[in-house]
Amino acid sequence: MALEINPDIEIKDSPIEGKGLFTKVPIKKGTVIWISKGEEPYDEKVYTDEEFKKFTEWCIINGKEWDAVANGDGTHTAAISDRDKHPGNYGNHSCDPNTDKNRVAFRDIAAGEELTADYAQFSTKDWEMKCNCGASNCKGIVKGKL
Ligand SMILES: [Zn+2]
Repeated sequence: MALEINPDIEIKDSPIEGKGLFTKVPIKKGTVIWISKGEEPYDEKVYTDEEFKKFTEWCIINGKEWDAVANGDGTHTAAISDRDKHPGNYGNHSCDPNTDKNRVAFRDIAAGEELTADYAQFSTKDWEMKCNCGASNCKGIVKGKL
């Protein structure tokens, strides 16, 4: 596997949605949650807007799920999801996240806490999702910022 998850992190049922990433130990601010080793774990590619539309249509027709990040310049980095190969994809959104875009802890995180990121920073303005994160500042609906 090209991506290695920190051994102190486990995948468990999440109160936010589905499964999430949880830390078994306290994590210090600035810790990289996982380390990339060599090549990407799946065929991640950069698509133009038009190519990305075709890619998602193909996925829908073929019953595949995908993961995508808007790059903010009209392109999208996307791949077919394979969560077993890319455990980072289990990370849930929170309106009060504790990891940044690069999966670095931006505050101290206590043992047992779920690791979350703000999906808005990876998503285009036309994207939104109902949020169930339970944070005191939860916006209810998350909207892309790019
Ligand atoms: Zn929320």
